Amino acid sequence: MATPERFDCIVIGAGVQGSFTAYQLAKKNKRTLLLEQFVLPHTRGSSHGQTRIIRKAYEQDFYTIMMDECYQLWAQLEKEAGVKLYRQTGLLVTGPEKGDNFQQIKNTLERNKAPMVVLNRDNFSQHIPHFNLDEETGALVDITAGVLYADRALKTAQGQFQKLGGVLRDKEKVTDIKPGPFVTVSTAASVYQAKSLVITAGPWANTLLAHTGLQLPLQVQKINVCYWKEKVEGSYDVKRRFPCFVTVGTAEANVHIYGLPSNEYPGLMKICYHTGSDTDPDRRDLQTDKSDIEILRATFPLSPRPRPRACCGGELSVHGMMFLNIHQHGKKHEEGTPSILIIMSTNTSCSGCNGVSHHYCMFYFL
Ligand SMILES: Cc1cc2nc3c(=O)[nH]c(=O)nc-3n(C[C@H](O)[C@H](O)[C@H](O)COP(=O)(O)OP(=O)(O)OC[C@H]3O[C@@H](n4cnc5c(N)ncnc54)[C@H](O)[C@@H]3O)c2cc1C
Repeated sequence: MATPERFDCIVIGAGVQGSFTAYQLAKKNKRTLLLEQFVLPHTRGSSHGQTRIIRKAYEQDFYTIMMDECYQLWAQLEKEAGVKLYRQTGLLVTGPEKGDNFQQIKNTLERNKAPMVVLNRDNFSQHIPHFNLDEETGALVDITAGVLYADRALKTAQGQFQKLGGVLRDKEKVTDIKPGPFVTVSTAASVYQAKSLVITAGPWANTLLAHTGLQLPLQVQKINVCYWKEKVEGSYDVKRRFPCFVTVGTAEANVHIYGLPSNEYPGLMKICYHTGSDTDPDRRDLQTDKSDIEILRATFPLSPRPRPRACCGGELSVHGMMFLNIHQHGKKHEEGTPSILIIMSTNTSCSGCNGVSHHYCMFYFL
């Protein structure tokens, strides 16, 4: 057998987490291999699509605290590549004012001194056209939030990674992982070795982890992503400074909806329900449940009769906590020693999704 090609690090999975991690490793002069099972770009995981929301408004402090660095890292990538990846729009958060979710977000923003404006019934319609705030609903704006251009960000991170000498091999599905002083990774095409392995396989994480004897408590769901015709034409456009928005429910009525202003398709807003239906990532097309769209129709407060225009096939969402785990066969990890690092970016926060904005850089450990 030929000697396996050796790298400092191998990253499995070229979604946003893997691509950004590989790029950061290459910046640290680590000889890095990024492996992807599908031909790039693809629409079978969680990271595709034109836009995502980036924000500091979370219930949990740790997400909000991470965001300062995340904004800086996105800005750095924009500068290095000369590409615009982020557009500030602000994020309108609404929900039952006395409900836990709304209060937790407000408290987290306050505690972490994130720029925020609390809206009331008198000033709401000055900022948000064509809507009124009812008495029980609280509203605030997370000022620095905005839109991240997701597909462009992915392509940019992969491009910068390659410019730095990183090796990207797509259509190379990893079929086996053997831990050892050097981790051995097999694909149908080749065998590779590295001191450190990063697994960023998103919905396929447990399939891959089975090779290491580990499993994570994850739930994979398919979310229908729809674009809805504007109720008042032209009013909800990003150019008219309409914000991204999140409507949070209560602990009892766990209805969370988020949306982005019209941007990628003129006159159409992306509005989604934050959970979908369980699926197997390799059989996602068999999951045809559209009850999330029905929930949107029934509960979305901004437009009583929204019309879905384009269901973009759906994106895979992983429910669980955001995971960072270093596996070393029970030993304490020391910097520079062989390791398998598992990064899961998941759709976890009560108020919705967060993985793209958090693309948090676990490469510090490698
Ligand atoms: C509908 C929806 C809306 C969202 N909205 C937001 C938002 O507004 N803001 C936000 O910050 N986040 C949002 N998220 C969350 C965010 O998109 C995800 O958390 C993030 O994209 C996950 O990236 P990932 O790299 O972990 O996973 P993925 O993008 O799924 O990447 C995993 C990759 O690993 C590859 N892979 C798997 N197994 C193998 C193998 N054996 N060999 C080689 N390659 C393999 C896969 O093909 C895939 O490319 C949203 C998610 C969804 C579903």
